[in-house]
Amino acid sequence: MHRENEGVLQLREQERAKLWQRLIERLEQYFRELPEIPVAQTPNVAALRALLSSFDFSEPGDPLEAVEFVIEELRRTQVHTPHPRYFGLFNPAPTTMGIAADTIVAALNPQLAAWSHNPLASEIERHLVLAFGQRFGWQAPNIDGVFCTAGAEANHTAVLTSLCHAFPEFRASGLRGLPRQPVLYISGEGHHSILKAARLCGLGTEAVHEVDVDDSLRLEVGSLEARISEDRARGLAPFLVVATAGTTSAGVVDQVDSVAAVANREGLWLHADAAWGGAAVFVPELRDILAGIERADSIIFDAHKWLSVPMGAGIYLTRHPEILTQTFSTATGYMPGAHLDTVDPYSHSIQWSRRFIGLKVFLSLVVAGWPGYEAVLRRQVQLGKLLGEKLRAAGWEVINRTRLPLVCFVDRKSKDGRTLEYLQAISDWVVQSGKAWISVCRLARGLSGLRACITSYRTTPDDLDALVDALEAARESVAAAQS
Ligand SMILES: *Cc1c(COP(=O)(O)O)cnc(C)c1O
Repeated sequence: MHRENEGVLQLREQERAKLWQRLIERLEQYFRELPEIPVAQTPNVAALRALLSSFDFSEPGDPLEAVEFVIEELRRTQVHTPHPRYFGLFNPAPTTMGIAADTIVAALNPQLAAWSHNPLASEIERHLVLAFGQRFGWQAPNIDGVFCTAGAEANHTAVLTSLCHAFPEFRASGLRGLPRQPVLYISGEGHHSILKAARLCGLGTEAVHEVDVDDSLRLEVGSLEARISEDRARGLAPFLVVATAGTTSAGVVDQVDSVAAVANREGLWLHADAAWGGAAVFVPELRDILAGIERADSIIFDAHKWLSVPMGAGIYLTRHPEILTQTFSTATGYMPGAHLDTVDPYSHSIQWSRRFIGLKVFLSLVVAGWPGYEAVLRRQVQLGKLLGEKLRAAGWEVINRTRLPLVCFVDRKSKDGRTLEYLQAISDWVVQSGKAWISVCRLARGLSGLRACITSYRTTPDDLDALVDALEAARESVAAAQS
Protein backbone atom coordinates (compact mmCIF):
# COMPACT_ATOMS: atom_id res chain seq x y z
CA MET A 1 0.00 0.00 0.00
CA HIS A 2 2.82 2.34 0.92
CA ARG A 3 4.54 1.72 -2.40
CA GLU A 4 1.28 2.30 -4.23
CA ASN A 5 0.94 5.76 -2.68
CA GLU A 6 4.46 6.54 -3.67
CA GLY A 7 3.63 5.35 -7.16
CA VAL A 8 0.79 7.80 -7.75
CA LEU A 9 2.21 10.79 -5.91
CA GLN A 10 5.93 10.62 -6.49
CA LEU A 11 5.75 8.45 -9.64
CA ARG A 12 8.36 5.81 -10.37
CA GLU A 13 11.87 6.81 -11.33
CA GLN A 14 11.51 5.90 -15.01
CA GLU A 15 8.17 7.64 -15.27
CA ARG A 16 9.67 10.75 -13.71
CA ALA A 17 12.59 10.73 -16.11
CA LYS A 18 10.17 10.58 -19.06
CA LEU A 19 7.99 13.28 -17.58
CA TRP A 20 10.84 15.76 -17.05
CA GLN A 21 12.17 15.11 -20.51
CA ARG A 22 8.80 15.57 -22.20
CA LEU A 23 8.05 18.66 -20.17
CA ILE A 24 11.27 20.37 -21.18
CA GLU A 25 10.83 19.40 -24.83
CA ARG A 26 7.30 20.82 -24.84
CA LEU A 27 8.36 24.08 -23.18
CA GLU A 28 11.20 24.56 -25.66
CA GLN A 29 8.79 23.83 -28.49
CA TYR A 30 6.34 26.39 -27.09
CA PHE A 31 8.92 29.15 -27.01
CA ARG A 32 10.21 28.21 -30.47
CA GLU A 33 6.74 28.33 -32.04
CA LEU A 34 5.41 31.24 -30.01
CA PRO A 35 6.05 34.05 -32.55
CA GLU A 36 3.96 32.18 -35.13
CA ILE A 37 0.90 31.33 -33.04
CA PRO A 38 -2.06 33.71 -32.56
CA VAL A 39 -1.54 35.98 -29.53
CA ALA A 40 -5.09 35.30 -28.33
CA GLN A 41 -8.18 33.25 -29.16
CA THR A 42 -11.81 34.08 -28.59
CA PRO A 43 -12.80 32.14 -25.48
CA ASN A 44 -15.59 29.57 -25.62
CA VAL A 45 -16.82 28.82 -22.10
CA ALA A 46 -19.13 25.96 -23.08
CA ALA A 47 -16.39 24.17 -25.02
CA LEU A 48 -13.94 24.52 -22.12
CA ARG A 49 -16.44 23.11 -19.62
CA ALA A 50 -17.28 20.24 -21.93
CA LEU A 51 -13.58 19.50 -22.27
CA LEU A 52 -13.14 19.34 -18.50
CA SER A 53 -16.28 17.33 -17.85
CA SER A 54 -14.46 14.14 -18.85
CA PHE A 55 -12.22 14.47 -15.77
CA ASP A 56 -14.08 12.81 -12.90
CA PHE A 57 -10.87 11.59 -11.16
CA SER A 58 -12.45 8.19 -10.58
CA GLU A 59 -9.19 6.39 -11.37
CA PRO A 60 -5.49 7.20 -11.68
CA GLY A 61 -4.38 8.68 -14.98
CA ASP A 62 -1.27 8.86 -17.13
CA PRO A 63 1.23 11.60 -16.21
CA LEU A 64 2.49 12.28 -19.73
CA GLU A 65 -1.02 12.52 -21.12
CA ALA A 66 -2.06 14.83 -18.31
CA VAL A 67 0.83 17.23 -18.88
CA GLU A 68 0.38 17.07 -22.63
CA PHE A 69 -3.29 17.94 -22.23
CA VAL A 70 -2.62 21.00 -20.10
CA ILE A 71 0.16 22.42 -22.25
CA GLU A 72 -1.76 21.85 -25.47
CA GLU A 73 -5.02 23.35 -24.17
CA LEU A 74 -3.30 26.35 -22.56
CA ARG A 75 -1.50 26.91 -25.80
CA ARG A 76 -4.78 26.79 -27.69
CA THR A 77 -6.80 29.02 -25.36
CA GLN A 78 -4.70 31.45 -23.36
CA VAL A 79 -3.76 35.03 -24.05
CA HIS A 80 -0.05 34.48 -24.74
CA THR A 81 1.51 37.07 -22.49
CA PRO A 82 5.05 35.82 -23.35
CA HIS A 83 4.33 36.58 -27.05
CA PRO A 84 6.41 39.26 -28.79
CA ARG A 85 3.18 40.90 -30.01
CA TYR A 86 1.46 40.98 -26.62
CA PHE A 87 1.31 44.76 -26.07
CA GLY A 88 -0.57 44.41 -22.86
CA LEU A 89 -0.90 44.91 -19.18
CA PHE A 90 2.62 44.54 -17.78
CA ASN A 91 2.45 40.71 -17.84
CA PRO A 92 5.90 39.38 -18.57
CA ALA A 93 7.53 36.98 -20.95
CA PRO A 94 9.19 35.05 -18.12
CA THR A 95 12.97 34.89 -17.74
CA THR A 96 14.47 31.44 -18.20
CA MET A 97 16.19 31.72 -14.82
CA GLY A 98 12.82 32.59 -13.29
CA ILE A 99 11.32 29.41 -14.72
CA ALA A 100 14.25 27.42 -13.31
CA ALA A 101 13.80 29.13 -9.93
CA ASP A 102 10.09 28.33 -9.72
CA THR A 103 10.87 24.72 -10.56
CA ILE A 104 13.44 24.51 -7.75
CA VAL A 105 11.02 26.19 -5.36
CA ALA A 106 8.24 23.74 -6.22
CA ALA A 107 10.58 20.78 -5.72
CA LEU A 108 12.41 21.77 -2.52
CA ASN A 109 9.30 23.49 -1.19
CA PRO A 110 11.03 25.92 1.19
CA GLN A 111 8.82 27.22 3.97
CA LEU A 112 9.29 30.95 4.42
CA ALA A 113 7.22 31.42 7.53
CA ALA A 114 10.05 30.91 10.00
CA TRP A 115 13.67 31.98 9.45
CA SER A 116 14.98 28.79 11.05
CA HIS A 117 13.17 26.56 8.53
CA ASN A 118 14.98 28.19 5.68
CA PRO A 119 17.89 30.40 6.63
CA LEU A 120 19.29 30.71 3.10
CA ALA A 121 15.97 31.53 1.47
CA SER A 122 15.20 34.10 4.18
CA GLU A 123 18.63 35.68 3.81
CA ILE A 124 18.38 35.78 -0.01
CA GLU A 125 15.12 37.72 0.33
CA ARG A 126 16.68 40.04 2.91
CA HIS A 127 19.66 40.60 0.62
CA LEU A 128 17.33 41.49 -2.26
CA VAL A 129 15.23 43.81 -0.10
CA LEU A 130 18.40 45.72 0.83
CA ALA A 131 19.59 45.77 -2.79
CA PHE A 132 16.27 47.12 -4.07
CA GLY A 133 15.98 49.60 -1.21
CA GLN A 134 19.44 50.95 -2.12
CA ARG A 135 18.55 51.21 -5.79
CA PHE A 136 15.58 53.38 -4.76
CA GLY A 137 17.94 55.64 -2.83
CA TRP A 138 17.81 54.41 0.76
CA GLN A 139 20.64 53.27 3.02
CA ALA A 140 20.90 50.39 5.47
CA PRO A 141 19.96 50.05 8.28
CA ASN A 142 16.94 52.13 7.29
CA ILE A 143 15.64 49.60 4.80
CA ASP A 144 13.19 46.81 5.40
CA GLY A 145 10.69 45.00 3.28
CA VAL A 146 8.95 41.80 2.36
CA PHE A 147 8.18 39.78 -0.74
CA CYS A 148 4.47 39.56 -1.51
CA THR A 149 2.33 37.50 -3.85
CA ALA A 150 2.03 40.56 -6.10
CA GLY A 151 1.42 44.30 -6.13
CA ALA A 152 -2.07 44.14 -4.65
CA GLU A 153 -0.79 42.47 -1.48
CA ALA A 154 2.15 44.87 -1.39
CA ASN A 155 -0.24 47.85 -1.59
CA HIS A 156 -2.40 46.28 1.10
CA THR A 157 0.75 46.01 3.24
CA ALA A 158 1.45 49.69 2.60
CA VAL A 159 -2.01 50.78 3.73
CA LEU A 160 -1.73 48.62 6.87
CA THR A 161 1.75 49.85 7.81
CA SER A 162 0.79 53.47 7.27
CA LEU A 163 -2.29 52.99 9.47
CA CYS A 164 -0.17 51.43 12.23
CA HIS A 165 2.33 54.24 11.92
CA ALA A 166 -0.22 57.04 12.12
CA PHE A 167 -2.43 55.36 14.72
CA PRO A 168 -0.42 53.06 17.01
CA GLU A 169 -3.67 52.10 18.77
CA PHE A 170 -4.93 50.58 15.47
CA ARG A 171 -2.91 47.44 16.19
CA ALA A 172 -4.97 46.51 19.25
CA SER A 173 -8.29 48.28 18.90
CA GLY A 174 -8.56 48.62 15.14
CA LEU A 175 -10.49 51.43 13.54
CA ARG A 176 -13.03 51.24 16.39
CA GLY A 177 -10.41 52.77 18.67
CA LEU A 178 -9.85 55.88 16.57
CA PRO A 179 -11.44 59.18 17.53
CA ARG A 180 -11.49 60.45 13.94
CA GLN A 181 -12.07 58.77 10.58
CA PRO A 182 -8.81 58.14 8.66
CA VAL A 183 -8.66 59.14 4.98
CA LEU A 184 -6.07 58.63 2.28
CA TYR A 185 -5.31 60.25 -1.08
CA ILE A 186 -4.48 58.92 -4.54
CA SER A 187 -4.97 60.34 -8.02
CA GLY A 188 -7.92 59.27 -10.12
CA GLU A 189 -5.39 57.45 -12.34
CA GLY A 190 -3.99 55.40 -9.42
CA HIS A 191 -4.40 51.64 -9.15
CA HIS A 192 -7.66 50.22 -7.80
CA SER A 193 -5.85 47.71 -5.59
CA ILE A 194 -5.63 50.63 -3.14
CA LEU A 195 -9.44 50.75 -3.06
CA LYS A 196 -9.52 47.03 -2.36
CA ALA A 197 -6.88 47.43 0.34
CA ALA A 198 -8.99 50.15 1.97
CA ARG A 199 -11.94 47.79 2.00
CA LEU A 200 -9.86 44.92 3.38
CA CYS A 201 -8.44 47.12 6.16
CA GLY A 202 -11.94 48.06 7.25
CA LEU A 203 -11.52 51.65 6.10
CA GLY A 204 -14.02 51.26 3.28
CA THR A 205 -13.66 52.70 -0.17
CA GLU A 206 -15.11 56.06 0.89
CA ALA A 207 -11.91 56.62 2.89
CA VAL A 208 -10.06 56.78 -0.43
CA HIS A 209 -10.17 60.36 -1.67
CA GLU A 210 -9.40 60.61 -5.35
CA VAL A 211 -7.43 63.72 -6.24
CA ASP A 212 -7.73 65.50 -9.61
CA VAL A 213 -5.01 65.14 -12.21
CA ASP A 214 -3.35 67.82 -14.35
CA ASP A 215 -3.20 67.96 -18.16
CA SER A 216 -0.48 65.31 -18.15
CA LEU A 217 -2.65 63.02 -15.97
CA ARG A 218 -0.36 63.51 -12.92
CA LEU A 219 -1.76 63.99 -9.45
CA GLU A 220 -2.41 67.72 -9.08
CA VAL A 221 -0.52 68.83 -6.00
CA GLY A 222 -2.62 71.98 -5.42
CA SER A 223 -5.81 69.88 -5.37
CA LEU A 224 -4.18 67.50 -2.92
CA GLU A 225 -3.38 70.34 -0.52
CA ALA A 226 -6.86 71.81 -0.81
CA ARG A 227 -8.46 68.42 -0.22
CA ILE A 228 -6.36 67.76 2.88
CA SER A 229 -7.27 71.06 4.53
CA GLU A 230 -10.97 70.62 3.68
CA ASP A 231 -10.88 67.14 5.20
CA ARG A 232 -9.16 68.36 8.35
CA ALA A 233 -11.77 71.09 8.70
CA ARG A 234 -14.47 68.39 8.49
CA GLY A 235 -12.86 66.50 11.38
CA LEU A 236 -11.33 63.71 9.29
CA ALA A 237 -7.83 62.32 9.91
CA PRO A 238 -5.65 62.29 6.75
CA PHE A 239 -2.86 59.73 7.16
CA LEU A 240 -1.59 58.56 3.77
CA VAL A 241 -0.93 59.82 0.26
CA VAL A 242 -0.15 57.47 -2.61
CA ALA A 243 1.99 58.70 -5.50
CA THR A 244 1.84 56.48 -8.57
CA ALA A 245 5.06 55.98 -10.50
CA GLY A 246 3.77 54.60 -13.78
CA THR A 247 -0.01 54.51 -13.99
CA THR A 248 -1.56 51.39 -15.44
CA SER A 249 -3.58 53.14 -18.13
CA ALA A 250 -1.09 55.68 -19.44
CA GLY A 251 2.30 55.06 -17.78
CA VAL A 252 2.24 58.50 -16.18
CA VAL A 253 4.54 59.23 -13.24
CA ASP A 254 3.29 61.55 -10.49
CA GLN A 255 5.72 64.28 -9.38
CA VAL A 256 6.91 62.35 -6.37
CA ASP A 257 9.10 65.20 -5.09
CA SER A 258 6.23 67.69 -4.91
CA VAL A 259 3.87 65.12 -3.41
CA ALA A 260 6.58 64.30 -0.84
CA ALA A 261 6.80 67.98 0.12
CA VAL A 262 3.06 68.04 0.88
CA ALA A 263 3.16 64.73 2.74
CA ASN A 264 6.07 65.98 4.80
CA ARG A 265 4.42 69.26 5.69
CA GLU A 266 1.13 67.57 6.56
CA GLY A 267 2.69 64.67 8.46
CA LEU A 268 1.28 62.02 6.12
CA TRP A 269 2.87 58.70 5.16
CA LEU A 270 3.99 58.80 1.53
CA HIS A 271 3.58 55.57 -0.37
CA ALA A 272 5.00 55.24 -3.89
CA ASP A 273 3.19 52.70 -6.05
CA ALA A 274 6.01 51.95 -8.47
CA ALA A 275 4.73 48.49 -9.44
CA TRP A 276 5.75 48.84 -13.08
CA GLY A 277 7.46 52.22 -13.49
CA GLY A 278 9.84 51.67 -10.58
CA ALA A 279 12.13 49.89 -13.04
CA ALA A 280 13.14 53.37 -14.26
CA VAL A 281 15.63 53.46 -11.35
CA PHE A 282 17.70 50.82 -13.13
CA VAL A 283 18.22 52.99 -16.24
CA PRO A 284 20.41 56.04 -15.52
CA GLU A 285 18.85 58.30 -18.16
CA LEU A 286 15.34 57.54 -16.84
CA ARG A 287 16.17 57.84 -13.14
CA ASP A 288 15.10 61.51 -12.96
CA ILE A 289 11.43 60.72 -13.63
CA LEU A 290 11.33 59.14 -10.16
CA ALA A 291 13.04 62.11 -8.46
CA GLY A 292 11.98 62.22 -4.83
CA ILE A 293 11.02 58.55 -4.58
CA GLU A 294 13.66 58.16 -1.84
CA ARG A 295 11.49 60.48 0.28
CA ALA A 296 8.68 57.90 0.28
CA ASP A 297 7.98 56.03 3.51
CA SER A 298 7.14 52.91 1.53
CA ILE A 299 7.53 51.79 -2.07
CA ILE A 300 6.11 48.82 -3.91
CA PHE A 301 7.71 47.26 -6.93
CA ASP A 302 6.56 44.24 -8.95
CA ALA A 303 9.45 42.14 -10.22
CA HIS A 304 6.91 40.16 -12.29
CA LYS A 305 6.26 43.22 -14.40
CA TRP A 306 9.21 44.96 -15.98
CA LEU A 307 11.87 42.61 -14.57
CA SER A 308 10.05 39.78 -16.33
CA VAL A 309 10.13 37.12 -13.64
CA PRO A 310 7.18 34.68 -13.66
CA MET A 311 4.12 35.86 -11.76
CA GLY A 312 3.95 36.91 -9.08
CA ALA A 313 6.68 38.73 -7.20
CA GLY A 314 5.58 41.90 -5.44
CA ILE A 315 8.08 43.68 -3.19
CA TYR A 316 7.04 45.99 -0.37
CA LEU A 317 9.87 48.25 0.83
CA THR A 318 10.02 50.72 3.69
CA ARG A 319 12.60 52.96 5.31
CA HIS A 320 10.99 52.41 8.72
CA PRO A 321 12.77 49.29 10.00
CA GLU A 322 10.34 48.64 12.87
CA ILE A 323 7.03 49.12 11.12
CA LEU A 324 6.53 45.64 9.64
CA THR A 325 7.08 44.01 13.01
CA GLN A 326 4.76 46.52 14.65
CA THR A 327 2.11 45.77 12.05
CA PHE A 328 2.33 42.00 11.75
CA SER A 329 4.08 40.36 14.68
CA THR A 330 2.12 38.06 16.96
CA ALA A 331 3.54 35.87 19.70
CA THR A 332 2.71 32.19 19.29
CA GLY A 333 3.47 29.14 21.33
CA TYR A 334 4.11 26.93 18.31
CA MET A 335 6.36 28.85 15.90
CA PRO A 336 10.10 28.35 16.24
CA GLY A 337 11.82 31.53 17.44
CA ALA A 338 14.11 33.76 15.37
CA HIS A 339 17.89 33.83 15.83
CA LEU A 340 19.99 36.83 16.86
CA ASP A 341 19.25 39.72 14.51
CA THR A 342 17.13 37.70 12.07
CA VAL A 343 13.41 38.10 11.60
CA ASP A 344 10.76 35.49 11.06
CA PRO A 345 9.06 36.31 7.76
CA TYR A 346 5.59 35.46 9.12
CA SER A 347 5.97 38.34 11.59
CA HIS A 348 6.60 40.69 8.64
CA SER A 349 3.91 39.67 6.21
CA ILE A 350 0.18 39.31 5.59
CA GLN A 351 0.98 35.70 4.70
CA TRP A 352 1.96 32.94 7.12
CA SER A 353 3.17 29.88 5.21
CA ARG A 354 4.93 31.48 2.30
CA ARG A 355 6.49 30.37 -0.96
CA PHE A 356 10.08 31.39 -1.74
CA ILE A 357 9.05 34.25 -4.05
CA GLY A 358 12.47 35.91 -4.06
CA LEU A 359 14.37 33.09 -5.77
CA LYS A 360 13.13 33.89 -9.28
CA VAL A 361 14.28 37.48 -8.78
CA PHE A 362 17.62 36.38 -7.33
CA LEU A 363 18.49 33.89 -10.09
CA SER A 364 17.36 36.27 -12.83
CA LEU A 365 19.51 39.05 -11.36
CA VAL A 366 22.53 36.79 -10.81
CA VAL A 367 22.51 35.89 -14.50
CA ALA A 368 21.47 39.22 -16.09
CA GLY A 369 23.16 41.51 -13.58
CA TRP A 370 21.96 45.11 -13.28
CA PRO A 371 23.74 45.90 -16.60
CA GLY A 372 21.82 43.14 -18.38
CA TYR A 373 18.50 44.49 -17.12
CA GLU A 374 19.52 48.05 -17.90
CA ALA A 375 20.15 47.12 -21.54
CA VAL A 376 16.83 45.27 -21.88
CA LEU A 377 14.83 48.07 -20.30
CA ARG A 378 16.57 50.70 -22.44
CA ARG A 379 15.78 48.77 -25.59
CA GLN A 380 12.11 48.51 -24.61
CA VAL A 381 12.02 52.26 -23.98
CA GLN A 382 13.46 52.84 -27.47
CA LEU A 383 10.84 50.50 -28.96
CA GLY A 384 8.15 52.51 -27.17
CA LYS A 385 9.40 55.69 -28.82
CA LEU A 386 9.61 53.97 -32.17
CA LEU A 387 6.04 52.71 -31.82
CA GLY A 388 4.85 56.27 -31.14
CA GLU A 389 6.62 57.45 -34.32
CA LYS A 390 5.21 54.65 -36.44
CA LEU A 391 1.70 55.28 -35.16
CA ARG A 392 1.90 59.02 -35.87
CA ALA A 393 3.14 58.30 -39.38
CA ALA A 394 0.12 56.04 -39.90
CA GLY A 395 -2.36 58.74 -38.87
CA TRP A 396 -2.86 57.92 -35.20
CA GLU A 397 -2.47 60.56 -32.50
CA VAL A 398 -0.57 59.77 -29.30
CA ILE A 399 -2.45 61.24 -26.32
CA ASN A 400 -0.33 60.36 -23.27
CA ARG A 401 2.90 61.95 -22.10
CA THR A 402 5.40 59.54 -20.60
CA ARG A 403 8.98 58.44 -21.14
CA LEU A 404 8.02 54.86 -20.34
CA PRO A 405 7.20 52.54 -23.26
CA LEU A 406 3.43 52.78 -23.11
CA VAL A 407 1.51 54.48 -25.90
CA CYS A 408 -2.13 55.62 -25.71
CA PHE A 409 -3.52 56.74 -29.03
CA VAL A 410 -6.63 57.68 -30.97
CA ASP A 411 -7.48 57.73 -34.68
CA ARG A 412 -6.97 61.08 -36.39
CA LYS A 413 -8.30 59.72 -39.66
CA SER A 414 -11.80 58.83 -38.47
CA LYS A 415 -14.43 61.30 -37.30
CA ASP A 416 -15.29 58.81 -34.52
CA GLY A 417 -11.62 58.22 -33.83
CA ARG A 418 -11.79 59.40 -30.20
CA THR A 419 -14.98 57.63 -29.14
CA LEU A 420 -14.84 54.66 -26.81
CA GLU A 421 -17.10 52.65 -29.10
CA TYR A 422 -14.89 53.08 -32.16
CA LEU A 423 -11.68 52.42 -30.22
CA GLN A 424 -13.20 49.30 -28.68
CA ALA A 425 -14.14 48.05 -32.15
CA ILE A 426 -10.57 48.58 -33.35
CA SER A 427 -9.12 46.85 -30.30
CA ASP A 428 -11.55 43.92 -30.61
CA TRP A 429 -10.66 43.48 -34.26
CA VAL A 430 -6.94 43.43 -33.54
CA VAL A 431 -7.30 40.97 -30.64
CA GLN A 432 -9.66 38.67 -32.55
CA SER A 433 -7.28 38.62 -35.51
CA GLY A 434 -4.68 37.01 -33.24
CA LYS A 435 -2.07 39.32 -34.80
CA ALA A 436 -1.43 41.33 -31.63
CA TRP A 437 -2.93 42.05 -28.21
CA ILE A 438 -3.80 45.63 -27.27
CA SER A 439 -6.53 47.14 -25.15
CA VAL A 440 -8.64 50.22 -24.63
CA CYS A 441 -8.03 52.56 -21.73
CA ARG A 442 -10.29 55.14 -20.16
CA LEU A 443 -8.51 58.14 -18.76
CA ALA A 444 -9.51 61.12 -16.64
CA ARG A 445 -11.82 63.77 -18.17
CA GLY A 446 -13.69 61.26 -20.29
CA LEU A 447 -10.72 60.61 -22.59
CA SER A 448 -10.36 57.17 -24.14
CA GLY A 449 -7.53 55.65 -26.10
CA LEU A 450 -6.08 52.50 -27.52
CA ARG A 451 -3.26 51.26 -25.31
CA ALA A 452 -0.11 49.44 -26.37
CA CYS A 453 2.70 48.75 -23.95
CA ILE A 454 6.06 47.19 -24.82
CA THR A 455 5.71 44.31 -22.40
CA SER A 456 7.73 41.41 -23.75
CA TYR A 457 11.52 41.44 -23.98
CA ARG A 458 11.01 39.42 -27.19
CA THR A 459 9.38 42.32 -29.05
CA THR A 460 11.32 43.61 -32.09
CA PRO A 461 10.76 46.50 -34.54
CA ASP A 462 9.14 43.99 -36.93
CA ASP A 463 6.53 43.27 -34.28
CA LEU A 464 5.74 46.99 -34.12
CA ASP A 465 5.20 47.00 -37.89
CA ALA A 466 2.91 44.00 -37.54
CA LEU A 467 0.87 45.90 -34.94
CA VAL A 468 0.62 49.03 -37.12
CA ASP A 469 -0.45 46.86 -40.07
CA ALA A 470 -3.08 45.12 -37.95
CA LEU A 471 -4.39 48.50 -36.81
CA GLU A 472 -4.65 49.64 -40.44
CA ALA A 473 -6.61 46.50 -41.33
CA ALA A 474 -8.85 47.04 -38.30
CA ARG A 475 -9.48 50.63 -39.38
CA GLU A 476 -10.55 49.51 -42.86
CA SER A 477 -12.75 46.75 -41.52
CA VAL A 478 -14.48 49.01 -38.98
CA ALA A 479 -14.98 51.70 -41.63
CA ALA A 480 -16.47 49.14 -44.03
CA ALA A 481 -18.87 47.91 -41.34
CA GLN A 482 -20.01 51.47 -40.64
CA SER A 483 -20.76 52.43 -44.26
C1 LIG B 1 -0.05 46.00 -11.56
C2 LIG B 1 -0.21 47.15 -10.63
C3 LIG B 1 -0.70 46.97 -9.34
C4 LIG B 1 -1.24 45.65 -8.86
O1 LIG B 1 -0.25 44.71 -8.84
P1 LIG B 1 -0.52 43.13 -9.09
O2 LIG B 1 0.87 42.64 -9.20
O3 LIG B 1 -1.32 43.00 -10.34
O4 LIG B 1 -1.24 42.62 -7.91
C5 LIG B 1 -0.73 48.05 -8.51
N1 LIG B 1 -0.32 49.27 -8.93
C6 LIG B 1 0.15 49.48 -10.18
C7 LIG B 1 0.58 50.86 -10.59
C8 LIG B 1 0.22 48.43 -11.07
O5 LIG B 1 0.68 48.62 -12.31
